Formats: sequence, structure tokens, C-alpha cells
Amino acid sequence: MKLLQGKTALVTGASRGIGRGIALMFAEQGANVAFTYLSSVEKGQALEQELAAKGIKAKGYRSDAASYKEADDLVNSVVTDFGTIDILVNNAGITRDGLLMRMTEENWDAVMNANLKSVFNLTKAVQRPMLKQKKGSIINMSSVVGLKGNGGQSNYAASKAGIIGFTKSVALELGSRNIRCNAIAPGFIETEMTAALDQKVVEGWRQAIPLKRGGTSEDVANLTTFLASDMSSYITGQVISVCGGMLT
Ligand code: NAP
Repeated sequence: MKLLQGKTALVTGASRGIGRGIALMFAEQGANVAFTYLSSVEKGQALEQELAAKGIKAKGYRSDAASYKEADDLVNSVVTDFGTIDILVNNAGITRDGLLMRMTEENWDAVMNANLKSVFNLTKAVQRPMLKQKKGSIINMSSVVGLKGNGGQSNYAASKAGIIGFTKSVALELGSRNIRCNAIAPGFIETEMTAALDQKVVEGWRQAIPLKRGGTSEDVANLTTFLASDMSSYITGQVISVCGGMLT
């Protein structure tokens, strides 16, 4: 029996990177997968086909997670198309790095809206179907940077720390309705984005990690799948790091 058989998941920001890895693993574990992207239309369409080829129902939606209205419309569309939502993964996120001295108001607002307000928007919208069915698992993508801070990323770190406070509060509010809410704090995960970086710098980062390698999308997807499944039915309000021991 597959871990997510018969469940419907909504994953934000799945056109590439970690979100894509999660969508693929969810499909392999039998879930029907609704997912979003913002600008990567072609990649979104290709993923929809790749997921459907695994024999599950899959649909990609172009939807800005930072928009309250679009998030609300999205959830209504997914419920209409799929009948329900059992799992929400708030994965969409951006960086606009810079020292505080040079950080613009626009870069602060863009990161807070895409990373933190998006989590509020989607979680608020999925509350309705989840309360109705008296079950649900919400998984929010934070970061080790939200736990420890990082120079040059004060906007990003604040948004990821905000996700942790939100996650714990939602777990307390909705636990009695059998709706769980947990956060994942990835460390250095090697995606297409990091492949473009100076490989000498990247190797230095790898050597500073106790497990001596960067993480993969699959490493994060493994934990996400566990938190989405009934195997974690007594786990809520937690923040779990996937960082190869980096934050130890
Ligand atoms: P990524 O490769 O840059 O992918 C980000 C995804 O989010 C893309 O699919 C993008 O869609 C989507 N997206 C961005 N803004 C959006 C919006 N407003 N509405 C809807 N979708 C939006 O990022 P990643 O490395 O996979 O990271 C995924 C999550 O993990 C993020 O929350 C990130 O902060 C967190 N994280 C990553 C790492 C790491 O080392 N990679 C470490 C810790 C935490 P488009 O392609 O259409 O723009």
C-alpha cells in the first residue's frame, strides 16, 4: 500500500527545485497532485504530464501565492477539480538577498509576501475543506535560516522565522479538529539554482556540513511525504530540520 494512496495534495511552487521533488514523490506514493507555479508555464505543463504518467490525477495552476484573492480562488478550483484537499505544502518562496544597509522596502515586501503572507493565504483557504472533513496535514517550508538567522538575508530569515510561529499557532488552533501543521527547515539543498553558483564556493559549503554533502530535493521530499502521511498522525506543531547536521 502506497503511503498517500487516495489523498489529494496541493503543493505551491512545484515547477522546479524542492516543490517539484515533492510533487513527484507524492505521485509515486499514490496521491493526486494539484500544484502551482508563477512564471514557469512550460515547466508546469511538463510536470503535469510527468505526474499524470504515474497513474494519478494531476493538474498545474498558475497562481500567485502572495495574492490573497488568487490563493482563495485556487483552493476553490482545486476542491472543484479534485473533490477535496487532504495535504497542503506551502513551498513557494523567493530570496532577495542583501545587507540591511542596502535592502530596499520593495525587497523586504516581496520576500514577506511571497514567503510568509502566502502561507497565511493558503492555510486560511484550505481550513474550510479540512474543517469539513475533520482531517488534514499542512506542511510549511521554513529554513535553517529561520532558526539561526543569516547575514545578508534579514528579510528571508524573518519570513522563515515567521512561518515557524504561524505553524505552531495553527497546530494549537486546529489540533482538536485533527488538522496537523508542521514546518520543515531545509539547510543547503542543491537545486538548479545552486548548480549555477561557483563550484569552489559550493564545495566549501559541502565540507562544512557534518554529512559532507548538500541535500537533495528527495531528502526534503522524504520528510514531507512522512509528514503528509498517516505515519505522522501524532506529530503536529514541530519544526524538523533536513540539513545533514548543519544546524547542530
Ligand atoms: P526554487 O528552485 O527557486 O523554486 C521556487 C518555486 O516557487 C518555483 O516553482 C517558483 O515558480 C515558485 N514561486 C515563487 N514565487 C511564487 C509565488 N509568488 N507564487 C507561486 N509560486 C511561486 O526554490 P527551492 O530551492 O526549490 O526552494 C523551495 C522552498 O524551500 C522555498 O520556500 C525556499 O525558501 C525553501 N528552502 C530552500 C533551500 C535551498 O537550499 N534550496 C533551503 C531552505 C529552504 P516559478 O518557477 O513559476 O517562478
